[in-house]
Amino acid sequence: DATEVAFFGDPQLMARGILVNGRGNRYVPEDTYPGRIGQLTLLKNDNQAFLVIDEAAYEEGCAATSSTPFFRFRPKWVAETVEELESDMGLPAGTLQATVEVYNRHAETGTDPVLGKKSEWCVPIGSPIAAIDLRNCTAGFTLGGLRTTVDSEVLHVSGEPIPGLFAAGRCTSGVCAWGYASGTSLGDGSFFGRRAGISAAKG
Ligand SMILES: Cc1cc2nc3c(=O)[nH]c(=O)nc-3n(C[C@H](O)[C@H](O)[C@H](O)COP(=O)(O)OP(=O)(O)OC[C@H]3O[C@@H](n4cnc5c(N)ncnc54)[C@H](O)[C@@H]3O)c2cc1C
Repeated sequence: DATEVAFFGDPQLMARGILVNGRGNRYVPEDTYPGRIGQLTLLKNDNQAFLVIDEAAYEEGCAATSSTPFFRFRPKWVAETVEELESDMGLPAGTLQATVEVYNRHAETGTDPVLGKKSEWCVPIGSPIAAIDLRNCTAGFTLGGLRTTVDSEVLHVSGEPIPGLFAAGRCTSGVCAWGYASGTSLGDGSFFGRRAGISAAKG
């Protein structure tokens, strides 16, 4: 009951732009963990993701990107105005314009009260403006499995612990269920593995 979704977008570019879905709405702080962006894109936004970014931010992001060209997506649409871009992308009329207007209004003061992106990335989006097509940039794999108590006893579907059966790590549905972050697997496995051993020794 847990899915990790990798997102193959360049963090240096994503943080400098805004990610919108197929309705022209932002749905995630662009500077967050890419796995979270992937989960929200694939599972909550129909795998529709477009990075809207102006030329200056794009150039700055590319300069900050590591040498690998793997992530260096090229814009699919380029326009002088948000209205023009919105129309070229086929987004519902007015949606992207409203999103950029609200984003820019707060970015003027280096804030993002809507989604909480860090102040350092909150810069108003100017012109020329472009959009990078990030649809189908997600790849998912499952995590999770057996439900356990905090003492690593495996729970029956009835909710009762099964006597003498313990589990820890990636065969369980632990702290990694919904919202995986790199590193949590080893922490989860070793912490609950130790508790499983202590519980089993007591039994
Ligand atoms: C390339 C890569 C990079 C990763 N990077 C990170 C990272 O940076 N941070 C992080 O937290 N996690 C990372 N992970 C994930 C993490 O390594 C695993 O989630 C974790 O090791 C899982 O531990 P586990 O004890 O649940 O399972 P495993 O480590 O897979 O242990 C299961 C053990 O059971 C044994 N086994 C299988 N079948 C049987 C059987 N029938 N009888 C007896 N023994 C059996 C296997 O040989 C194995 O030793 C990475 C994984 C990969 C593949």
